[in-house]
Amino acid sequence: MSWRDLRCGEPRPDQVGRRLTLAGWVDTRRDHGGLVFVDLRDHTGMCQLVVNPEHAPDAHAVAHELRNEFVVQVEGELAARAPEAVNPALPTGGVELQVDRLRILSRSTPLPFQLDEEHVDETLRLRYRWLDMRRDQMQRNLRLSHTVVQSIRRTMDERGFIDVWTPSMTRGTPEGARDFLVPVRLQPGKFFALAQSPQLFKQLCMIGGIDRYYQIATCWRDEDLRADRQFEFRQLDLEMAFVEREDVLDVMEAAVVNAFDALGREPPARPFPRIGYDDAIARYGTDKPDLRFGLEIQEATEVTRGSEFGVFAGAEAVRFIVVPQEYSRAELARLEEVAKEWGAKGLAYIVHGADGEARSPIAKFLSERELAAFGAPAGSTVLFGAGEPELVARVLGGLRLHVARELGLADPDAEVFHWVIDFPLFQRDEDTGHWTFLHHPFTAPIAGDEDFEDDPGAAKSQHYDLIWNGWELGSGSIRIHRSDVQAAVFRTMGMSDEEANGKFGFLLEALEMGAPPHGGFAMGLERFVALMAGEPDIRQIVAFPKVSSGADPLTGAPTPMPADVLRDLGIEALPTEAEHGGI
Ligand code: ASP
Repeated sequence: MSWRDLRCGEPRPDQVGRRLTLAGWVDTRRDHGGLVFVDLRDHTGMCQLVVNPEHAPDAHAVAHELRNEFVVQVEGELAARAPEAVNPALPTGGVELQVDRLRILSRSTPLPFQLDEEHVDETLRLRYRWLDMRRDQMQRNLRLSHTVVQSIRRTMDERGFIDVWTPSMTRGTPEGARDFLVPVRLQPGKFFALAQSPQLFKQLCMIGGIDRYYQIATCWRDEDLRADRQFEFRQLDLEMAFVEREDVLDVMEAAVVNAFDALGREPPARPFPRIGYDDAIARYGTDKPDLRFGLEIQEATEVTRGSEFGVFAGAEAVRFIVVPQEYSRAELARLEEVAKEWGAKGLAYIVHGADGEARSPIAKFLSERELAAFGAPAGSTVLFGAGEPELVARVLGGLRLHVARELGLADPDAEVFHWVIDFPLFQRDEDTGHWTFLHHPFTAPIAGDEDFEDDPGAAKSQHYDLIWNGWELGSGSIRIHRSDVQAAVFRTMGMSDEEANGKFGFLLEALEMGAPPHGGFAMGLERFVALMAGEPDIRQIVAFPKVSSGADPLTGAPTPMPADVLRDLGIEALPTEAEHGGI
């Protein structure tokens, strides 16, 4: 005998009269003066069961024992519901199963929360994730995630990519985060790092003639957890030989568009717009601008050079945004606080009243020419940033997002994908003062910028980012395929040849044995799926996530290890603060 003939969401009126066996979870049980109604549920939906004491006294006796989330198997005849009992909201709402046999397969203890309960504490939901997973939202999200992954695999396969497995336990790769370390019993005192990404392995695959590599790769990064970040996450990781930037972008655009198609959603138009990094910073104050709304940053440095307003006259950069809102003083005071959070000392503004009046503490210092240059219509406010260009970009970029969110300027139905290209090759590390990479040190300079050592800050790279509605979905680049250029990057970063060889000798060596030009990309899968699912938090689309403290409420991991286990690994645990008598 099979456990079930149909899934719970499948019975339809054209099967009325058929004898059926169903199995699933008790969603609800209702006693109606003798008749017992049960909603039987599985991932496909719900079917109403009716147990009649006269027709099926044994089943009726068992039905009384049923509680929510018991697992049962039932047998009976499918019947049409009386017209007044039809539920048009349910696909199975025209039928019900007249049960004559009912078997309890598994019982449930009283539940820590009801599946349809709202505002359940998240840690509690994660502690009992197997219950939480039965909810529609989790079922939908995990299935949506599967559809996206399948669609990606199809796209990759159609385009000649092969899935090559690369090690999780490796040497640290510099992707800008801390490594998780794995001790090795066979070599006490030594550690593997869990791969922050398969970056170097995929490059070695290119040198190895794989031509087109991809992987749904798990990556580990020891960073603080946030709504869009977990310790471990997956990415669509790919690499291609003999390609230019546009070839990589083309594949990624296809992967994104096909995923929309697979979900039956209107895909974004291709090609996705490309914006230069300098342009993005100048116009939006960030390298991942949200382009669902305008509110572009405008330039006023030249026009304010001789300004009588000293702050403007002396500032390296003066820029502004024009907000379509006549702000009150109280609102401006709040915006000033926001600007200060982004590093501003204050917030200069001009309110252009609907009455045509310009209200501003600084208006009296500004010339007609200056005021005209700010060109704001009645009923708007000009917000300024003045100072170092990076600071001004940060402050106005932050304000731009803030006011757009408050004023609802972004079209909630718009899906704007775009690329940011032409990043600088190096930036100054704020802590050490050394030059460091923006993406990772394997990114190639643009053609003509290979001699970057004299002026590293001026070199541009072949790095590109994919942005969706202001979220960075992923990054990639055309890589360095010449060992002399790679060695020069390490040198510029302040690494001695000895250090570079110690850490990356294998790469430098491989680059000397016939490395084809190559490039690739990696897109964070959970973030992509979360945005697809309209979930603000990636924990909603991960089956078993960690909470922000870094713990797994379900298994209780991480846990301390006995001293003898650690000793075998060559490790001695320091006392924790609590053991020290601290807090
Ligand atoms: N390894 C990079 C990352 O994980 C992606 C790439 O450059 O392909 O962000």
